[in-house]
Amino acid sequence: MEKTEATVDNTPFAGHVAPELLVLDKGEGAWLYDKAGNKYLDFGSGIAVNALGYGREDMAQVVYNQMKKLIHIPPLWTTEPALELGKKLVASGPFAAVHLGNSGSEANEAALKFARLYAKRAKGEEHHKILCFENAFHGRTMGALSCTPTPKYQDPYQPLVPGVLSVPYNDVAALKAVLNAEFAAVIVEVVQGEGGMTCMTQEFAGELGALCRKHDIILIADEIQTGLYRTGSLYASLEIGLEPDILTLAKPLAGGLPLSATLLAEKVNKLIHVGEHGTTFGGGPVTTALGLFVWDKLNEPAFLAELKEKINYLDELLQKLQLDCACVGRLKGKGFLRGIEILDTKGKGEKLMPDLLEEAQAQGILVLRSGKNILRIAPSFIISRQELSFGVELLHKVLKEIE
Ligand code: PLP
Repeated sequence: MEKTEATVDNTPFAGHVAPELLVLDKGEGAWLYDKAGNKYLDFGSGIAVNALGYGREDMAQVVYNQMKKLIHIPPLWTTEPALELGKKLVASGPFAAVHLGNSGSEANEAALKFARLYAKRAKGEEHHKILCFENAFHGRTMGALSCTPTPKYQDPYQPLVPGVLSVPYNDVAALKAVLNAEFAAVIVEVVQGEGGMTCMTQEFAGELGALCRKHDIILIADEIQTGLYRTGSLYASLEIGLEPDILTLAKPLAGGLPLSATLLAEKVNKLIHVGEHGTTFGGGPVTTALGLFVWDKLNEPAFLAELKEKINYLDELLQKLQLDCACVGRLKGKGFLRGIEILDTKGKGEKLMPDLLEEAQAQGILVLRSGKNILRIAPSFIISRQELSFGVELLHKVLKEIE
């Protein structure tokens, strides 16, 4: 594989993620091509964004048609695509309104603001605390970062937003010991996408929901990574029985264009006054036109039936991989958001995961990392059974080389 032309180590980007970056040129279906013409099966889909794959004529056409009509309007007015998508999102769960933004962090930022606003107005000034969980990832803006209690993300930016506490995830005793009526909100993921692919237990979901109801604490379900069928159902939080007062979405919402949604229950929405939150670009005509296309596609019964079948197939493939590779520990995650625990059978230490990701790339498969030693797989929903099987074969080869 030609590598020299395909990567660059001298970029204009501040603090970018790797010493050497792959320069990608185009995509087709579940495949990406770099500038030297090498082809990669994308098992990460742009960190769970490109649910409908790459290089689609139909999506390009939607964007082209909307761009010819209107690219941007100020938030003083609206457009048909924004109205239509907004209505569909609101009708998708126990919600009364939606705030459209541009990124996951921004959706969570709005959620935290609205939760504090609710608590102050419904319960009183002193109810401002926010609870999050160890290994959570809610974003990199100050509010969202304050709820992302991982030292490597937080330490360079201290002091953060005051009043945020964290307890271990899935720890019912710790939750009960801390959560009380002083809290405004709890923010939580049903699968910890960045922090190790741990799934929420049914018991924890039950206790969390009950405590939030008991103390009138706003429950924010961060579904930026899990939402829109990534774990097999529309919303992982509703599937596990939570009743979120606020639910946040982003990643796949506009098929790769930046669009986020903060969905609000009636009790929160009715306390927000005009002008208390806003955005210039959020919910623009182009992103919402594509968002509508994605929404309709994802909700087609035949598309969903096929997705469920492929989710089961991936699970079978991963179970075989686990049996066959000594370096594979637990299988984690859910649906098309899966984690493979990698055991350090050769004592590689800190180099274990970077070497693994590099070897996978060299073999022509792009995968992600989650937490310390979890390989994350989040394929696009249009990937075929053959491609899933080919991808897991490539992973098998990579894992055999490191074990
Ligand atoms: N919340 C979750 C669960 C995420 O996975 C992410 C991003 O990975 C974010 C929030 C932040 O989203 P963004 O990077 O679009 O700001």
